[in-house]
Amino acid sequence: MFLLLIAAVGLNLYPVLSTEIVNVTAGVTLPNTGFVERLYRLDCGHSLANDESVWTPGENVGKNIEFSSTCYLLRHGSDVLMWDTGVPEETIDDPKGWSTLPSLIVYHLDRTISSQLAEIGLTPSDVTYLLISHSHGDHIGNVKLFPDATVVMQRAEYEWINGAPPADANLNILVTLARELLGHPKRLELVTGDVDLYHDGSVRLISTPGHTPGSQSLMVRLRNTGYVILSGDVVHLEDNFRRNIVPGLNVDKAQSLASMERIRALMAQYSAVLFINHDKQQTDRLKLVPQYYD
Ligand SMILES: [Zn+2]
Repeated sequence: MFLLLIAAVGLNLYPVLSTEIVNVTAGVTLPNTGFVERLYRLDCGHSLANDESVWTPGENVGKNIEFSSTCYLLRHGSDVLMWDTGVPEETIDDPKGWSTLPSLIVYHLDRTISSQLAEIGLTPSDVTYLLISHSHGDHIGNVKLFPDATVVMQRAEYEWINGAPPADANLNILVTLARELLGHPKRLELVTGDVDLYHDGSVRLISTPGHTPGSQSLMVRLRNTGYVILSGDVVHLEDNFRRNIVPGLNVDKAQSLASMERIRALMAQYSAVLFINHDKQQTDRLKLVPQYYD
């Protein structure tokens, strides 16, 4: 049922919008002819949470756990794309750190995005597209660093953070922070479902709701590395993925399970590897800018 990856279902533009992202008819499968030339991992922070059981319900109660926060930069032709933006840069010198949910988790930033872009000769103004996995603050903390980029996110996510306040207090804190961090991008593309960004199979947004209503993952095609799926928060830990465990903070457990299953199917179909954003042990093994995957 998930074979048709390239259905850009009902692309909508909001509020005004620009550009030439996609206009693919739903259900049409296009050939995979394109590649991302380079995929860079950026260190976008790390965090310490005081209760692992939030991510592993019923297990690891009261145990500390350290997570990575990861951003990626992609080069496609003359375009520069960012996948997520990490912890806000202005918190770098704050010894207390920064938080999305102060009772649970504290983030620290060791290096700014700007300094990591500079290592490869780029500045934030070179970034064409900001692809947002979802609206949690540790993923959109630096959206305002890229005022000229086109921000691409799922309509369901945008409507969630701008809709009726969630009844759950933690979720309400998260969406309030999300509105503040997202602000009002000059160029905002709201998409629905999967999107083949260049119509060539090289960069595909994959709808993976459950963690939040409009969560998405990203599948990229590299000439030498093959297919890589960037998780977003469809899963936080390799062990959760193996054992099909859904964090307690996710908004929809059934959707979360279906989204993990969908990623497994894609991995099998495309021999893809999965880079899990917050799994620090896995992340520490991956190449870091200025090194890259090609
Ligand atoms: Zn998240």
